[in-house]
Amino acid sequence: MNEKNCIFCKIISRTSPATIVAENEHVIAIKDISPKAPVHLLIIPKKHIVDVQSLLPEDNVYAAAILQMARQLSAMETGRRDCKLIINNGVGAGQLVFHLHCHFLSGKKIVEV
Ligand code: 5GP
Ligand code: ZN
Repeated sequence: MNEKNCIFCKIISRTSPATIVAENEHVIAIKDISPKAPVHLLIIPKKHIVDVQSLLPEDNVYAAAILQMARQLSAMETGRRDCKLIINNGVGAGQLVFHLHCHFLSGKKIVEV
């Protein structure tokens, strides 16, 4: 999958719909279409990076922006400051969308995810 047929690139460019909860220059945070927890968001860099293994030194700004967005989302979820962050990398790890993304999970069921 490349940038042209990547669902997350389409969401970033507004070619495909999504519920956007936060956005800045480097990342977008959307609601997962199939939530596995009471709060299940995806933090997605605005550059088509396939996975953690594909990160280049110049991608550090995106890597940092993912964690800073997680901090921001955690602060938004009043009373739900605990959160779990998951990044699947590769088919063997369960990655289905090959554009780097961080799952942000929160709510009472996060320990079981
Ligand atoms: P992965 O297994 O690649 O780490 O997770 C991909 C996630 O993207 C899944 O949790 C799936 O529900 C979510 N997802 C896949 N397609 C879409 C979509 O079109 N819109 C949204 N909002 N989430 C999607
Ligand atoms: Zn992409």
